[in-house]
Amino acid sequence: MAQPSTIVAQATPPGAGGIAVVRLSGPGAYSVAARVFFPQDPAKKVENARGYTALFGHFQARGCTLDEGVALFFRAPRSYTGEDVVELSCHGGQVIAQTLIEACIAAGAAPAGPGEYTKRAFLNGRISLTQAEAVMDVISAAGRQGAALAEHALGGALAKQIGGYRQTLLALAGHLAAWVDFPEEDVPALEPAALQKALGEVLAGVSALVESYGAGAVLRQGVDTAIVGSPNVGKSTLLNLLAGFDRAIVTPVAGTTRDVVEQAVMLGGVRLNLFDTAGLRETGDLVEAEGIRRSREKLAQAGLVLAVFDGSSPALPADRELARACAGRRAVALINKNDLPQRFDEAVLQGGFSAVVRMAAGRGGGLAQLEAAVARVLGVAELDLAAPCLVSQRQLAAAVEARAALADALEALAGGFGLDAVSVCVDDALAALCRLSGEDAAASVVEEVFSKFCVGK
Ligand code: GDP
Repeated sequence: MAQPSTIVAQATPPGAGGIAVVRLSGPGAYSVAARVFFPQDPAKKVENARGYTALFGHFQARGCTLDEGVALFFRAPRSYTGEDVVELSCHGGQVIAQTLIEACIAAGAAPAGPGEYTKRAFLNGRISLTQAEAVMDVISAAGRQGAALAEHALGGALAKQIGGYRQTLLALAGHLAAWVDFPEEDVPALEPAALQKALGEVLAGVSALVESYGAGAVLRQGVDTAIVGSPNVGKSTLLNLLAGFDRAIVTPVAGTTRDVVEQAVMLGGVRLNLFDTAGLRETGDLVEAEGIRRSREKLAQAGLVLAVFDGSSPALPADRELARACAGRRAVALINKNDLPQRFDEAVLQGGFSAVVRMAAGRGGGLAQLEAAVARVLGVAELDLAAPCLVSQRQLAAAVEARAALADALEALAGGFGLDAVSVCVDDALAALCRLSGEDAAASVVEEVFSKFCVGK
């Protein structure tokens, strides 16, 4: 059998991240590694590195230093593949990892095929076939797994911000714990004003993260949008305007839009998952009745309501009813057909809508105003796209908990409950933030106490 080649591939998922791991496997893994990785300590030689050891050094590509990082060594047969393996950990981001892979290829490695490491592990008797299949399953679970990885990879800015808050709270928690638990150590008491300021700053930051979650989620996932209104006001025309082509049949006869028509459109960078509705009115027509039932259902679930009114006709009782139904919802009133003489009394809309836009959907007029109104109503107009944001419900839950604990801490402080009460709340907030970023709170508080105050002497 031919000597197996030495293969190279990125072992960590592509995208932004703290660290990327480039893995070499095969008989030439050490010699390839020696041509791209240079240990900090010149006395150490890559070729002589024993299995299960690590060396710190720098990576070189085309004669230039690329990055610094760590090489981990595994000697055959005690590695994942059963072959010699070297794992090169460089800083995350595609450019460095890709350049490093190219350098490995230039040094004699071949790019690994899909699943090749696992295949080698199987061929070398390191894992059974069912284990190999299980590994493949995990790797190819693109949906949820992929989403989770993306969450992880894109979380850099958020991790940094949360890390800063954690640092602040950790210092406070350490100080408070030392003060409360070791009174004989003469730990200076924290100034309440300073404590209040520090807690207030973290609370403001965490609150901002919580508040931007909804708008961030809207941007990532789009928002289910119901187009509602009486027959013939121009709902289908609006849908077609937004969609840019004739998706729904537009006719001047009332009641032709029988069903919920779904269409995703982009409006000012926001994805609206639109459903046009059969006119919301009672009817003896069974097919249309079913359409209306489905419309009502969809309306109840919609994250945004575009309520359309005919500006060229006097307001109908149904319009008043619709305005009432929209109260408290994220809803925009569209007074359509403003190219015709206006007879619609805007007063009926009172209290139902966060924004009113006059437009002529039939002529494409007023689209920019609609776009601005939608952005305002959804809260995405104020969203800073470069700012860190929470991207999962798990993160949101942890942030909400941290916010509550911080508010409790400030309340305990203001109410003069004593620093031990404050300390408990700060610990809770810290625990929630640590959960948000996946770190163990208790251990880090302990470390902080003993490193800063030497109470354990
Ligand atoms: P729907 O029943 O609410 O879906 O209403 P349609 O979209 O089918 O429109 C009903 C009628 O109003 C059609 O004849 C459209 O051409 C007309 N229409 C829609 N928008 C406008 C507009 O902005 N100006 C004018 N003058 N007519 C419009």
